[in-house]
Amino acid sequence: MQEQQKIQMVDLHGQYMRIKAEVDAAIAEVIDSSAFINGPAVGRFASALAQYTGAGHVITCGNGTDALQIALMALGLRPGDEVIVPAFTYVASAEVIALLGLKPVMVDVDRDTFNTDMRFIEKAHTPRTRAIIPVHLFGQSCDMEPIMDFASAHGLYVVEDNAQSLGAEYIYRDGKRRRTGAVGHIGCTSFFPSKNLGCYGDGGALFTDDDALAERIRMTANHGQRVKYHHDVIGCNSRLDTIQAAVLEVKLRYLDDYCGARRTAAHRYNALLRGVDGVELPVEAPYSTHVYHQYTLRVRDGRRNALKEFLASRGIPSMIYYPLPLYRQNAYLYDGSGLKIADELAASVLSLPMHTELEAVEQERIAEAIMDFFKR
Ligand SMILES: *Cc1c(COP(=O)(O)O)cnc(C)c1O
Repeated sequence: MQEQQKIQMVDLHGQYMRIKAEVDAAIAEVIDSSAFINGPAVGRFASALAQYTGAGHVITCGNGTDALQIALMALGLRPGDEVIVPAFTYVASAEVIALLGLKPVMVDVDRDTFNTDMRFIEKAHTPRTRAIIPVHLFGQSCDMEPIMDFASAHGLYVVEDNAQSLGAEYIYRDGKRRRTGAVGHIGCTSFFPSKNLGCYGDGGALFTDDDALAERIRMTANHGQRVKYHHDVIGCNSRLDTIQAAVLEVKLRYLDDYCGARRTAAHRYNALLRGVDGVELPVEAPYSTHVYHQYTLRVRDGRRNALKEFLASRGIPSMIYYPLPLYRQNAYLYDGSGLKIADELAASVLSLPMHTELEAVEQERIAEAIMDFFKR
């Protein structure tokens, strides 16, 4: 048998090798200058990201979870205020709400896009609702225009969780486009290594067009101070370190290529798997481009776990994002009796290997294994 390369869920090392010279030089420059905290690369990267996203302000911070927390702190919400958040997402989206003494109100998501929308949000709205956190899951945008219209009619803030979809574009009804994260009042993102724009450690950022909010966000992330040692609000300490900013400054130049490589890989999966009875392929919404942070199948007839095991037996990794809706997590137990689609997805989703270095032969091997499984 021919020696086969091990298929990886994500391939950070392969991606690094392509840009090694540039990244190594950028890191060496930071160490040389020893400006480890708030060195020049931090500001340069924030400006470049503002230009890329079209957001008026980009404020960098320590990670994506901090970004969400800082956003809610900067909005001045009060204990007991309700924040609407999907039940089918990474824990951070709801965790920060509860951490601040606010009330997460979890809503269901669409079966095809995995994202929440106005059908679910409207039902969850009460007089205590203050904010909505739409999560752009797996690489495509929520349908933002109706959410923004609803928010403005009811005086709500919209904080986008864009940790998985940086690089995607929301397409308005009139054809106008904007990068996700720059559509709501505040956008939040993460530079966790496996994200579409990942650094070599932790990192995050917030986006806003609102000058006053930008100021509040900046203060909040920096101990609540505008002037050093003068603390006007209770803040926290959350910074993107200079080495990470230097890496991101290099990698941002490749973000569109990275998203393109993910799209190409996704479309290749689609071509290989179309017609396989037993799985449903990911759907691209008309109001968003898709940057495929994940390529996520829905496996029919309760066979998801069996398929996962079968793939593993052939050396093919896969992941379940997410096995338990947030309202079923011990920390967030919640009456989610209406959240049937979140339950259904948690039991049926399976994400296949997806990264910028994925090769056609690897995808053919994966597709072949999936077809073999359903032939049995
Ligand atoms: C990764 C992620 C976060 C948190 O980002 P960290 O940088 O790991 O704190 C938040 N929300 C979603 C949807 C994510 O995927």
